[in-house]
Amino acid sequence: MIIKWIEKLLGDPKAKELKRMKKIVSKINSKEADLQTFSEEEFQALVENYRGKNFKESPEILIEMLALVKNACRRLVGTDYLVFEKSTHWNMIPFDVQLMGAIALLEGKIAEMKTGEGKTLVAGMASAVAAFAGKGVHIVTVNDYLANRDAQLNTPLFSYLGFSVGIIIHSKSPEERKQGYLADITYGTNNEFGFDYLRDNMATDMNAMVQRPLHFAIVDEVDSILIDESRTPLIISAPAGESTEKYKQYADLVQNLTENEHYNIDEKQKTAILTESGISKMESLLGVINIYTEKGFEEVHHIEQALRAKACFQKDVDYVVSPDGQVVIVDEFTGRLMPGRRFSDGLHQALEAKEKVEVKQQSRTMATITFQNYFRLYHLLSGMTGTAETEEEEFGKIYSLPVLPIPTNQLIRRKDNRDMVYKTEKAKFIAIAQKVKSCFEKGQPVLVGTASIEKSEILSEIFKQYKIPHKVLNAKHHASEAEIISAAGQKGAITIATNMAGRGTDIKLGDGVGELGGLLIIGSERHESRRIDNQLRGRSGRQGDAGETQFFVSLEDSLMRMFGSDRMLSMLNALNIPDDLPIENGIISAGIENAQKRVEGLNFDRRKHVLQYDDVMNKQRNIIYSKRKEILDSSSLHQEFLDLIDEEVENIIDLHTTGRPWHKWDTKEIHENITQFALNTDLISAEKIRLFQSTDDLIAFGKEYLRSAYLAKRVQFLSEENLLRAQTLISLRSVDGYFIEHLQTMNRLKEQVALQGYGQRDPLMEYKKEAFHLFKKLLADIRRNRLSTFFHAHIQVEPPKPEVIHV
Ligand code: ADP
Repeated sequence: MIIKWIEKLLGDPKAKELKRMKKIVSKINSKEADLQTFSEEEFQALVENYRGKNFKESPEILIEMLALVKNACRRLVGTDYLVFEKSTHWNMIPFDVQLMGAIALLEGKIAEMKTGEGKTLVAGMASAVAAFAGKGVHIVTVNDYLANRDAQLNTPLFSYLGFSVGIIIHSKSPEERKQGYLADITYGTNNEFGFDYLRDNMATDMNAMVQRPLHFAIVDEVDSILIDESRTPLIISAPAGESTEKYKQYADLVQNLTENEHYNIDEKQKTAILTESGISKMESLLGVINIYTEKGFEEVHHIEQALRAKACFQKDVDYVVSPDGQVVIVDEFTGRLMPGRRFSDGLHQALEAKEKVEVKQQSRTMATITFQNYFRLYHLLSGMTGTAETEEEEFGKIYSLPVLPIPTNQLIRRKDNRDMVYKTEKAKFIAIAQKVKSCFEKGQPVLVGTASIEKSEILSEIFKQYKIPHKVLNAKHHASEAEIISAAGQKGAITIATNMAGRGTDIKLGDGVGELGGLLIIGSERHESRRIDNQLRGRSGRQGDAGETQFFVSLEDSLMRMFGSDRMLSMLNALNIPDDLPIENGIISAGIENAQKRVEGLNFDRRKHVLQYDDVMNKQRNIIYSKRKEILDSSSLHQEFLDLIDEEVENIIDLHTTGRPWHKWDTKEIHENITQFALNTDLISAEKIRLFQSTDDLIAFGKEYLRSAYLAKRVQFLSEENLLRAQTLISLRSVDGYFIEHLQTMNRLKEQVALQGYGQRDPLMEYKKEAFHLFKKLLADIRRNRLSTFFHAHIQVEPPKPEVIHV
């Protein structure tokens, strides 16, 4: 109400926006008229002139580039080219509304354009303009088939302007992907782009990374990808089948270690740290020369977890073993049993091994991201779809993407009929079959949309009984379905399809079909979201074609039941209304729309909720991933290691001195923690540490001690190159190993806050608080592990020659 009033006062902002765009379009058109007089050489020279330029430099350059692209389309008319091996004729000169769509994309908006308006070309034009800058453009489609098709459809335009095209689909190898991302314009699916991003952030070598920095993305069917699929995270998980043997082996082996000699316990943190002699002991028990280099830091981690299980965790105090062989955690504070919860970082498995019960494997998440967060990484993001306006608020709030409905090229002539409401589902299906039969008899094509494969099959059975020949699609085979759906507008064609089937494919009318009323769309039930219903309607009446849509609803449909159709049903029964009599009533239609709005609102809230939790993880992931990139990118990590030493020393001393008078400092712990990296009894001892009276002096001493140990270690690497290689590898391994563990811990934390009531406290706040602590701990663990692995690295500059004795 208020909004309407403000709009009256100020003018509808969208109408203003369109007016502004129309002005730009007329400038483009007059520029393009000039270009028509250019010779081929002059035109090509102009193209070269723009290479390397960014369309954002000025409003004029955007106009000039779009004029150039439009003119290129004109010059291409009549060109033959292949799309899926079929000869195709280029006949497209962009309509004004298509230019408006392209401008919207380049301005980082969602262009809402109806089916058949030519979005493929719109994205092609926008990406060509953006491609001049040479930083790459990604066009994101919902499936491999569309990525392939759209790339091929636009290829004449791209190659005419000298741009290369890449296609990233599932079957491509890493090398092909890399080439694909190096292309000026890259087509691919949301899944492939997202997974490549995650894989790149697991690479241990710059050369193994396939993507360039994420510059500009145009997301086709943007509502599907950013709304319907936004809640599904992409997950790379470790191949199942991690051996549980090692837990058992370590549980046995640590029995041979004794406290103080082989390891030290930190009571406060409930951790165990191997000493130098503990490490040698484990090395000899395992029959290896250097545990860090031969087994990797994960193994040291596992050994320390086995030690913690042995020395820091007591049966019947910290955990119990249930009669069916489960290790159950006892809550530290309440003493309550917590069945189903597991300690993280492999500790639970270590306890299971210690207690000789079954060690349970867990599939480990190696990397994960939601589409929401992946797409927010792009410098510039835009999208297209036939249906976005109903979700305008969500696009705005979550992605800062304004929605701009672009007018159609031709007036829409389609007739959208009011819903037919039946008492029972059965009556509804029969009414559909009767309607379809009558259309079939006069030759009018019908597309019946269903909510599920199951409903499609039921309808198909009924159609068979009514002797109606038809085709059924269920969104499994994109290529063949695209072919069937594109023929759905031919005379007498009857097609049953789920909402998802054959999407992105334009339905052209066969000869004479216009006179029969065009394509009839039948919706066999209302979807929870108006947007999905609008998508279905939008399949008819393209480019000013005749067309008609009709939804059939029954009071037994799940959406109707959600808003209380039971009462209405008993009322109709009381009035003795027969099943096959449709009710066409404004109140019911309004009620349906309201129910949809309510469900949409609920779903938005749910997605927002997921996002709030995901945001926490997202910030952490960004920090870790940029740290990784920095490590991979560095030409020297020497200074970084010196900094790590300083931080570590400060941290150790802070932890064991803060809040105590100097004579109560835990000098034993300080000694143990510092010498875990390097022990030189000539220079350091617990007694010597005890002599210090100021923390600053002690810190200075600690730093000096470890720095000189570091410098001594450093020369063993012989060359800067060796040193860098070792430090890079060690660093990446530490970051990855601990971050992956952290992901599991965060997952569990999320489950935990969801399960536990927090009284008056806000679970999200609790989650954030705990996540912050865990992240701080993660960074400290990584630091400690990088140092520890470095100090213990066994340097092998040349591979050892095997000793061979001939007998
Ligand atoms: P959408 O994705 O918006 O539903 P498409 O990109 O599939 O639409 O295009 C629909 C049809 O319109 C295609 O057959 C395409 O060749 C045609 N088309 C697009 N733009 C033009 C144009 N400017 N002139 C002529 N035909 C066009």
